[in-house]
Formats: sequence, C-alpha cells, structure tokens
Amino acid sequence: MTPDLSFEKFHNIVAGKPRGSEKTSHTVDPATLENLWEIPVATERDADNAVTAAKDAFKTWKKTPFEERVELLKAWGEACRPYLKQFGELIMKENGKPVCSVFLVCTVSLKMPEEDHIVNDRNYHVRYTPVGVVVAICAWNFPLGQPIMKALPALMAGNCCIVKTSPFTPYSGMKVVELAQRFLPPGVLQVLSGDDRLGPWLTHHPGVDKISFTGSTKSGRKVAEAAARGLKRITLELGGNDPAIICPDVDVDKIAPDLCFAAFWNTGQVCTAAKRIYIHQDIYTPMLDAMARAVHKWKVGAGTEDGVMVGPMQNEMQYKKVRGLFEEAKQKGYAAWFGGEVRDTKGLFLDPTIINNPPPNSTLVMEEQFGPIVPALPWSSEEEVIQSANNTSMGLGASVWTKDFTRARRIAEQLEAGSVYINSYEKVSFRVPFGGHKDSGIGFECGPNALIPFCNMQVLHYNFKTQ
Ligand code: NAD
Repeated sequence: MTPDLSFEKFHNIVAGKPRGSEKTSHTVDPATLENLWEIPVATERDADNAVTAAKDAFKTWKKTPFEERVELLKAWGEACRPYLKQFGELIMKENGKPVCSVFLVCTVSLKMPEEDHIVNDRNYHVRYTPVGVVVAICAWNFPLGQPIMKALPALMAGNCCIVKTSPFTPYSGMKVVELAQRFLPPGVLQVLSGDDRLGPWLTHHPGVDKISFTGSTKSGRKVAEAAARGLKRITLELGGNDPAIICPDVDVDKIAPDLCFAAFWNTGQVCTAAKRIYIHQDIYTPMLDAMARAVHKWKVGAGTEDGVMVGPMQNEMQYKKVRGLFEEAKQKGYAAWFGGEVRDTKGLFLDPTIINNPPPNSTLVMEEQFGPIVPALPWSSEEEVIQSANNTSMGLGASVWTKDFTRARRIAEQLEAGSVYINSYEKVSFRVPFGGHKDSGIGFECGPNALIPFCNMQVLHYNFKTQ
C-alpha cells in the first residue's frame, strides 16, 4: 500500500491541488456522537476557481482519446483497491452503515455510442460529444457510491467533473477524488465540501453545463429552477415512497427476512427502501408476525460492533424528523405491530417499527419517511392495491411479492415506478438503468446508455451525391 494517503486529513481539491479554507467544520459519528475530522468549508471563490479549472482542463480532456481516458480511470480504480478496508471503515464512521461493501464500477466497459442510418442517398451519422463542466451533487446515504456513479461516466464521456459532497457525509467522496489526482490531469476531477450555500453557487454558475443531482424532491425542484435559467442539462435522482405489494400465495416465513431488509436496510435511509407495505388480507397477520420474528433477531447498534444489522440514523436532522413520526403515531393512536418505542440512547438509534394500518392519508403513508418506521396496510382486490400504490406523487421503485410470475408482471406493469423488484429488494447493478417516474426524478443513471446523459448529440448528414 502506498503510505501517503492519509485517512485522517481531508481537503477540497481544486485544480489538482489540496485546498483548505479559513473556515472549517466537522461532522459526528452518528453511533457515538463523537466529532469526526475537520474539513474546509468551501468559499464562493473556491467554487469559482473549480469551475475555471474544469473549463481549462476540458479543452484537453475532451480531445484525449476515449481509450486513454478509460485507462486513466481504470488506474484510479485499481489504486483504490489497497484502500478498500479504509474506505469501508470511513463509510461506517461517517454514515453509520453496519454492513459496508465498497464497490468499483463496471461502467468502464461502456463505449461512446455511435450509429448510422442510411435513408435513400443520405447517411445520417449520430454521435455524442461531452457537454463540458459537470457538477455532481450527492446525498448523504451513499457517500462513496454516488460520487463514483456520477463522476465515472461523466469523465469517460470527456467532461470535467466537480463533485459536491453532502455536508453530512463529506469524507469518503473527498478522499476518493484526492486519490484520483495521481492519475488525472489537474481540473478534470475536483471535489468541494461546504455549507448550504455551495450547492446553489454551483447550480447557478454560468460556467457549469450539466448538473447530476441526487437528493430530496424539494431540493431537486430548486436545482431544476436554477438549471432552467441557464438551460443547463440535468439529471435528477430524487426521493421515493416505494410500495411493496405482498400477494396471498407467498411463503411468509421465507420472504419475511427479505421484506424486513427491504424496509429497514441502512436504517430505512435508502431511496428505494420499501416505505409502504401492502399485505393481502388473507395473510396480513401471519406476514407481520413472520416479519416480527425476523426483526427480533436483528441487533441495533454501532456499525462497528459485531453482528449489528441496523445502525444509527445518519444525522440529527433526519433523526428528529423520523422521531417525530414515532411521536405522531403515538399521539394519533396508531398501533405498532413491533417496535414503536423511542429508547434513550447516546447515538441516533431508532428501532425497526411497523405501524399497523394507519389511515391512507396519514403522513406516514403519503410522505417519504427515510427511516425505520413503515406502515403496513391490508388489501383485498388487485385493482384497489394498484390504485393505492400509485396514489403518491413519487415514482421511484416498487416491489411485488408472489410465486405467480404472470400476476407479478401484470401488477408491475401497472405501477408508476422506474424500477419494480419482483420477490426482492433493490440489488443495485450498474449494468441496468435507474431513474424515477413523477416527482422521483428526471432522466436516468447507469445501464448501457450511462454516458448519454453526459453528452450532447450531434448528427452528421452526409450527401454522397457530390455535385
Ligand atoms: P438533500 O436534498 O437535502 O441534499 C442532497 C444534496 O443536495 C446535498 O449535497 C445538499 O447539500 C445539496 N443541496 C441541497 N439544496 C440544494 C440546492 N438548493 N441547490 C444545490 N444543491 C443543494 O437530500 P439528502 O437529505 O442529502 O438525501 C436524502 C434524499 O435523497 C431522500 O429523499 C432520498 O430518497 C433521496 N435519494 C435519492 C436517490 C435516487 O437515486 N433517487 C438516492 C439516494 C437518496
């Protein structure tokens, strides 16, 4: 292992160089509430300098042959390998995740798409060119995965990219971009961590051409407004309120652990977590009892402890919001099938909780909770459950659980969601596209066309009949 990558010191990276700031801040380990490392708070000048450096670097990077760009990016990926343990530990500290697998992506096998259409005596050649300066704005729930998932296709396509980490989980994104400086020319990939002003500085900046954003629907709207003024390209990966539809033919004991995982993995702080569980009335009680038995075996605690399945909430803001849902359930008399009590703990811990059949218009059903408190609702007719599942402005994911694949397909095709998981929770694959319907987003990430959202299209119209 190369000894010079410190996991104790963190900087912004501007024009290939580490940069501090007069003002610094830190986050806390959500399991212990102990302070983590100091990091610079980027200024407007830092944002401006990063955009200038990216624009300068773009002049050469866009002309660097595609294969050469890919080789440099692969070298960056290889250089991450010796540090996987450190990245894993870093994510556990900053995010609280108990089971942390760090992944490096298969995106590097993609090619820049080109196609020809011959019509009569004309040849139409379709090609794609990079848009320029891309800003990658990240949420806090996947602090390493999101920067990589955005930066890699952006850079492959020939753009320069500025990663803006979440102020709640800045560390692993900053470190992985620092490591990239060993391979990439200055300004090609930069990272900024800052306060609430940094995102708007970047999205309003006239030098930025594309914003790839992951976060809440509320912030996504603001990003779209800022982008509209400058006609910047956008990809928005936003919130979800995923329904899980459980049909009466399932083996309740078999699916219970997976269903619990769907709802409570990463303490429910997953955009595609099951956030409303619709269970057929014939198996309503046995299904919930099986889930209770499955969750009973799970340990809630610090991600660093052995055998922990459910870590802390990532930050105090989200903890308070979700704690409010526990309190609202109590006040309104909604019964918990299991969980439901807020324990007095030092860290930001909340127990997995199922609320039994709250009103369909309650906050818990209508809004994304992003925490481990999930409503269960009985259903009897397929038509009615599809209507309930679609009765939200969100459309990110959904799941259908049944042994009958014809029925699964029939239900899935009627759900207004970008991804429908059949007998499963989401298992991310970079080989397939991911994106939301309705208020859950615009555009897509990943899949065989992952480079296209970072490109302009150009058509060359050839007339072979020279005069
Ligand atoms: P958030 O919207 O508060 O913040 C996301 C990022 O946007 C942060 O980096 C933040 O600093 C920045 N930001 C906030 N306001 C901004 C503005 N006006 N202009 C520019 N940048 C701004 O979201 P969060 O709390 O970090 O993340 C949780 C949300 O993200 C949930 O709703 C979750 O469902 C969603 N999410 C979606 C996906 C997906 O792929 N669809 C993945 C993960 C998380």
